[in-house]
Amino acid sequence: MKGYAMLKIGESGWIEKEVPKCGPMDAICKPLAVAICTSDVHTLWEGAVGERHNLILGHECCAEITEVGSLVKDFKVGDRVLVPAITPDWNSLAAQAGYSMHSGGMLGGWKFSNFKDGVFSEFFHVNDADGNLALLPANIDVVNACMLSDMVPTGFHGVELADVQFGDSVLVVGIGPVGLMSVAAASMRGASRILAVGTRPNCIAAAKKYGADEFISYKNGTIEDQVLALTNGQGVDKIILAGGGNETFESAVKCLKPGGKIGNVNYLGSGDYVQIPRAEWGVGMGHKMINGGLMPGGRLRMEKLGSLVSSGRLDVSPLTTHVFDGWDHLEEALFLMRDKPADLIKPVVKLAD
Ligand code: NAD
Ligand code: ZN
Repeated sequence: MKGYAMLKIGESGWIEKEVPKCGPMDAICKPLAVAICTSDVHTLWEGAVGERHNLILGHECCAEITEVGSLVKDFKVGDRVLVPAITPDWNSLAAQAGYSMHSGGMLGGWKFSNFKDGVFSEFFHVNDADGNLALLPANIDVVNACMLSDMVPTGFHGVELADVQFGDSVLVVGIGPVGLMSVAAASMRGASRILAVGTRPNCIAAAKKYGADEFISYKNGTIEDQVLALTNGQGVDKIILAGGGNETFESAVKCLKPGGKIGNVNYLGSGDYVQIPRAEWGVGMGHKMINGGLMPGGRLRMEKLGSLVSSGRLDVSPLTTHVFDGWDHLEEALFLMRDKPADLIKPVVKLAD
């Protein structure tokens, strides 16, 4: 089979590999559509997960099952499925402890294009098919279905980590596709006011649609100064970090109310430490909680998030700005994600209807 791989840090191309073997609890799938993620860019060009040779890239797709293992109960060949980016081992102690995403070690649930070949391939392997896959609802098209692999679950998990409650004032830092889904989720959870940090016009337009009320540009001074000015010096109840670098923690702690919570889903790609400002953290006693996490994955979550899209309560279509037809355009879509033109949110490559 053909797969589009990281040959080494900074170099990629099509390679030939054997079709993966299907274990008794596994499934083999072929993608119906694939989406490119910022993480693919971090992995390939920034060496985010370290050096990899001939590792097939990609972790966002929807797919058709081509083979199932003998112990798989709920899926069969021909089923169209949602595929989560994170595919934990559900019978692990980490999963029993409520941290499925860390089964097999910290961040161990992130297997595609990290520990094993990803989904930019004619066929790919899914461990624990009953635990990880979900049927693709018939009224979700293959392009929108790709947003359910990572963008929806990650953005929503940021809101879970920040523990957004009815009436909360919420700040979302970064309104790329993940941050946009955090805006949508905060709104669904009953936030009374949503401030968003971002500058690109199409992201601002989408964020308004998802429920953001006011916008801050990180290019116009510090985030904390602007948030404090907009909130009479009070700050906000909850903050989701979905963009920027390590410095966003410092800003977030400074404009979070005592008792507030920060949910980080942002990937911190450089530097050795995250600085927490001592005084604004209540000299260690401010009850300002900082929580960071990888999205959990899992079939139940995929089914529930899928039902939000199929019921029409969550419209993910504004996330996909560029749609390509066929594998021949995969590289173009990947390079587009690297170069990030101002009008890009997500590129998707469609392989079937
Ligand atoms: P993205 O790069 O498309 O969006 C990030 C946005 O943040 C961009 O619009 C950028 O302009 C903006 N930004 C840059 N600097 C900023 C600053 N100082 N303040 C505020 N905004 C700033 O990425 P994305 O796909 O939306 O993903 C967001 C982050 O989530 C990435 O770091 C990604 O690697 C990470 N991620 C985490 C998980 C997880 O499970 N935790 C899953 C997927 C992605
Ligand atoms: Zn992703």
